[in-house]
Amino acid sequence: MIRKTITAITNYFTDRPEPEEIFLPLAKLPKEPKVEKPILSQYFKSQLVEDRAKYLNLQVYEIMWEMIAWIVEELKLIPVITETVTTGEQDEALGRVSQSHEDGRAFDMRTRDWTPEQRHKFMAFFTAKYSDKAAISKASGKPTLIVYHDVGHGEHFHIQFDRKFTVIKKETA
Ligand SMILES: [Zn+2]
Repeated sequence: MIRKTITAITNYFTDRPEPEEIFLPLAKLPKEPKVEKPILSQYFKSQLVEDRAKYLNLQVYEIMWEMIAWIVEELKLIPVITETVTTGEQDEALGRVSQSHEDGRAFDMRTRDWTPEQRHKFMAFFTAKYSDKAAISKASGKPTLIVYHDVGHGEHFHIQFDRKFTVIKKETA
């Protein structure tokens, strides 16, 4: 019985095909399909704006995507985020007074292809929903989530959150 088992094991090993038959040599493996660089997400003006979006405060980031989904669904528009997180130098060059982009608690959205009705619908819906998270306007002293303005680069929405959403930045060497 034991001998029979040993013979069976021996046969198992000797009957095994040579490794070449089991493993496909690397050279014969199908080549990785050549993937083109992914097309820039249609919701962002540039790759830089999209890359920097991940430095937004996480809640702000989530609300940004909620807004994008809502606009697509409710307004049948393709929103374009034109600014997310910026650097201090960039703000200075553009004459920006608010720190909100640098703080990671604001983003901008292009509105030139929106109708006034679409703008009002969007502003009414999200102002009501997130007034408790909105930045306080310097001018009015009131919570103001969405500012519709043109600071010389075309009309757009500046969507800003309270200072408590500021992303803490760590100096890196
Ligand atoms: Zn802005």
